[in-house]
Amino acid sequence: MFSLPLILMGILFLVLSLKPACTICKQSGEFGWKILLGLISLFLLGYISFLFHLITHDHSGDVFIEDILTIILFGGSLFVKLVIHFSLKSINKIQKIALKEEHSSLHDSLTGLANRKYFLKRLNEKVKLSKPFSLFVIDINRFKQINDMLGHYFADQLLIRIGNNIKKQVSEECFLSRIGGDQYTLICCAVTDEEISQLMTAIYSSFKIPFNVNNYNLKVDISCGGALFPKNGESVGVLLQQADIALRAAKQKQSGYVIYNDKLDNDAKSRLEISSKLHNALSNKEFEVYYQPMNKVQSDDGHHLEALIRWPQKEGGFIPPDQFIPIAEQNNLIRQITFFVLDSICNDLLALKQAGMKACIHINLSARDLQDDLVSEQLAKLIAAGVLLPHELILEVTETAIMKDLSNAKKVLQKLSDQGFVVSLDDFGTGYSSLSMLLELPIHQIKIDRSFVMSMQQEEIGYQIVKSIIFMAHNLNCSVVAEGVETKEVIDELISMHCDYLQGYYYSKPLDFPSLIEYCKQA
Ligand code: C2E
Ligand code: CA
Ligand code: CA
Repeated sequence: MFSLPLILMGILFLVLSLKPACTICKQSGEFGWKILLGLISLFLLGYISFLFHLITHDHSGDVFIEDILTIILFGGSLFVKLVIHFSLKSINKIQKIALKEEHSSLHDSLTGLANRKYFLKRLNEKVKLSKPFSLFVIDINRFKQINDMLGHYFADQLLIRIGNNIKKQVSEECFLSRIGGDQYTLICCAVTDEEISQLMTAIYSSFKIPFNVNNYNLKVDISCGGALFPKNGESVGVLLQQADIALRAAKQKQSGYVIYNDKLDNDAKSRLEISSKLHNALSNKEFEVYYQPMNKVQSDDGHHLEALIRWPQKEGGFIPPDQFIPIAEQNNLIRQITFFVLDSICNDLLALKQAGMKACIHINLSARDLQDDLVSEQLAKLIAAGVLLPHELILEVTETAIMKDLSNAKKVLQKLSDQGFVVSLDDFGTGYSSLSMLLELPIHQIKIDRSFVMSMQQEEIGYQIVKSIIFMAHNLNCSVVAEGVETKEVIDELISMHCDYLQGYYYSKPLDFPSLIEYCKQA
């Protein structure tokens, strides 16, 4: 009596199991599941045959066996339905976990953008496709300083927003990733000058608006280097290297983007050459110290000179300090350079004294010199030995050098200041310091960067900047040096602004020591 509905339900369960069983077969592709699917189909045939038997045969006699069989068949179909249902559920769950894991292995957990692994995978795929494309590496300028200033939490927030900002400016076809720290990459279809210029203008323009992070209105600057496939490079390794070289050039240029070209490669090679020659040059004392005089506007209390290192070459000429100082900093050789210059200054001060001249010499310190007490200890030794008096040496440090490791620089500068040395803030206006930093640090002098002084006459803004810096410096009890003074007109303006010291080609280029002696005698 109940056999018919039960067997009908059993057939329904088996039919309902077929679709999920097919799905599992397709997903897993395993042979076992195919056999199971075949068996379910066979069972279905069996159930239908039994149904047919129930409908067509006379059931007036003993139906006990049929009832038992019906119950067993119903139970079997229910079992199949449940097993298939729960198997599919588990498989889906496992797949979701696997997909999630794959996603997180290919994405950056902070920004959600593709990570380095995914970027390299995509770059390999693009190279294999052999269609032209461009690769860009974008780097945040002075991110370490921003990190120090904001702290890790807010710097992380900034990185997320920078990623979103770039994403908004590029089309869907561009593949954006964060490959580590403050570096982002873009793989794009833009390959013509016009397409690249449009893309870069959009990105750079979006960084003109400051980011508001933790109530700071932070102006973020980026550098971007690009390389083109296949025009520049035809393999992943070469393209990456070229984009890095272009990025470095963009960083040096300090504005706009740079696309790789062969000249940049030559620059990279010459950097490598300088790097390999530096060590020997130091051991062989191949360097020379030149001096550029400064003119004191108010009174005359001896000669003020800036010591500037020179690296003469056998074939004539010099390698400019701007080229080898950053390399010496990277190679940990800058300390030896500082000590070499200090040594030369002490000798030359003695020679000047012997010639009856009073002098105060400015020395340029590098970021590394501000990280520990080695310079301070060396100076203490020289003072103790009677070779040097604190007022004979002024220590020039750039804002950028201080900001590389602000807390250490603060301690080191305080120690040097306590020893009686004057600290002069070099290239003022080009770095990334805040005005409050000036109050916190023992700064006694400000050197206005030559770019402002040199633009004073052409640009009103340059004029106003110089005037404001002098006003502010004096209010902070700092003296002011204007460097890059090349014309009489600029000198007159600077004097009317009460600038304390003037330095520049108008007075003299940096001179070797014998020429300096001649210059001082005539001054
Ligand atoms: P700086 O400290 O800003 O030095 C001033 C630079 O401006 C010098 O270039 C000088 O020759 C140049 N200059 C001076 N007056 C004028 C002018 O009227 N017009 C123009 N166009 N330029 C002028 P230099 O000697 O090539 O030095 C470049 C940079 O190299 C220096 O910039 C300094 O950052 C670094 N440097 C030089 N000597 C040393 C050193 O002994 N140690 C360290 N750590 N850095 C040094
Ligand atoms: Ca200087
Ligand atoms: Ca300077």
